[in-house]
Amino acid sequence: MSTLADIVGCMADYDPDALPVARANEVIRSFVTPVTGTETLPVRAALGRVLAGDIVSPIDVPSHDNSAMDGYAVRSADLSPDSPVTLAEVGVALAGKEFRGEVAPGQCVRIMTGAVMPANTDTVVIQEVVKVEAGRITIPPGQERGQNRRFAGEDLRKGKPALGAGALIRPAELGLLASLGMSEVKVKRRLRVAFFSTGDELRSVGESLGAGDVYDSNRYTLYGMLARLGCEIIDMGVVRDDPALLEAAFRKAAASADAVVTSGGVSVGEADFTKQMMARLGEVVFWKIAMRPGRPMAIGRIESEGKSAFLFGLPGNPVAVMVTFYHFVRGALLYMMGRKDTELPLLRVKSQAAMRKKPGRTEFQRGILERRDGEWTVRLTGAQGSGILRSMSEANCFIVLHHEQGSVKPGEPVDVMLMEGLV
Ligand code: AMP
Ligand code: MG
Repeated sequence: MSTLADIVGCMADYDPDALPVARANEVIRSFVTPVTGTETLPVRAALGRVLAGDIVSPIDVPSHDNSAMDGYAVRSADLSPDSPVTLAEVGVALAGKEFRGEVAPGQCVRIMTGAVMPANTDTVVIQEVVKVEAGRITIPPGQERGQNRRFAGEDLRKGKPALGAGALIRPAELGLLASLGMSEVKVKRRLRVAFFSTGDELRSVGESLGAGDVYDSNRYTLYGMLARLGCEIIDMGVVRDDPALLEAAFRKAAASADAVVTSGGVSVGEADFTKQMMARLGEVVFWKIAMRPGRPMAIGRIESEGKSAFLFGLPGNPVAVMVTFYHFVRGALLYMMGRKDTELPLLRVKSQAAMRKKPGRTEFQRGILERRDGEWTVRLTGAQGSGILRSMSEANCFIVLHHEQGSVKPGEPVDVMLMEGLV
């Protein structure tokens, strides 16, 4: 395992006080490591899990050449390119009930979708174009040799990889595994993630608020985001801004989880005592990221009782928590879960209005992607303050204003990242 000091030591332009988003993600990605444990599950129970190894197909799918349409299986040598041909119908081939005879020249077989191609036939003529008269089938010219025929193994070939290690098991993969006749599948074990909120001002729901108090909402957004990723969740509650209590919480988390996600306590005013305390627990760096919202962040690995956990210390502001989670932690946790694909696509759409932006930082504005005059466009959700959680709730996308990018004029294209797929 590399240390953070090793990783950042190799970076020519590493500046912890003005770290571009992409740089921060590079450091995190070189630092975290995938879990090695696996478990074998019934196929359906593996939905949402990560495949532990390659799946090599034990069979050809489909196992035989078969028809893609309802119609007539013919010998293409019998057909003529420019005049109709009349053939004798000698039998029927159904899905699951093959035609066992031989098809001689001048003959054809009625065939249904999925039925095995009868011996000697290579082409299917769809039923809609033929003329049927007392067992005599007249086929119009212009049929293509081999049409409407599916080949054995054209979906999955025996001995070839059907799925790769690190794939997310989605509904398509459940079906694919079933099509191979598999009832069980080996997946990566679940990632254990502990999380807690820090702050003397935080109250839990059900308590009453005193002057200056706020309800702890971060533990709810974090719960939701971690649950959606499919993590095993350890909710450690609210921890007061007290070095001894914080140290105990971090030690407990390090001993029981693969990763720890916290909110609050890393802003400039609070970072000093957190830094001193964390220096005792392992290796933790404090960053100011060139982004908005969500500038401060702590990343590291902490140890306790011979075990260790990766630490993601997120800022306290409710929007900053979600933005930093989605743009740094999500990818890191997926990678730790063994996922190969962690990047989400950016789509380019027209901005309805102007947006002010300074080059030199990445901004993740909260946007509403909507259709206007038949075209997809995006607009801001309204006030974009990092404490305004409503801006996340109303949004269906992030508007990603890149590091070097400046202000946006009305009608100009911008990059957006859909929230569906993130969550
Ligand atoms: P901090 O990063 O701890 O300085 O917190 C920044 C801001 O976020 C302050 O206004 C906090 O009250 C607020 N905040 C911190 N943690 C939470 C939380 N768990 N839920 C809601 N707001 C929070
Ligand atoms: Mg705080």
